[in-house]
Amino acid sequence: MTIAVLAVQGDFAEHEAMLAELGAQVFEIRERADLDRPFDGLVLPGGESTVQGKLLRELGLFEPIRGKILAGTPVFGTCAGLILLAKRLSNDDNVYFDVLPVTVRRNAYGRQLGSFYAEEEFKGIGKIPMTFIRAPYIESAADDVDILASVDGNIVAARKDNVLGISFHPEVDRDLSVHRYFLDMIRGRE
Ligand code: GLN
Repeated sequence: MTIAVLAVQGDFAEHEAMLAELGAQVFEIRERADLDRPFDGLVLPGGESTVQGKLLRELGLFEPIRGKILAGTPVFGTCAGLILLAKRLSNDDNVYFDVLPVTVRRNAYGRQLGSFYAEEEFKGIGKIPMTFIRAPYIESAADDVDILASVDGNIVAARKDNVLGISFHPEVDRDLSVHRYFLDMIRGRE
């Protein structure tokens, strides 16, 4: 299985290491030509969504990636990646890919001191470590969105069809389960 990782900004290298550990072939999307290589799934890493959104447009990556997601390519966004996937942001006028019908609050736990750790249930996996770094959360979701995890009553993981978005950073904990979930999702087992 081949996974493309968006590598214009953020913590893409940590995702690549985890995916490789799970046996996936991994390559980076840095420019338009990289999208010509076939891949089975796409990871959008954490980082800074405003910067990522700007770079995606400048590099001519935005429309082709959106087209692939709409055509059914499985995508896994973490933190800033979740922000890029959302239909609406409650505290920001930007909208990016608009492929996950949820409303997301950026920096929902506070901008500077909003980093924390929790252990909570993830649907289909069990209790897992969750590290939040200036994280967003999902304020509301359309009825057809599957809620996969919540922390203190706030949604932190959700999926609709081929689109998986989470607000924490599994790539900083030594826990491969969410990446494994994504690979199973691609295989049609989740
Ligand atoms: N606060 C960042 C943003 O709004 C997301 C944080 C992260 O990805 N760790 O883009």
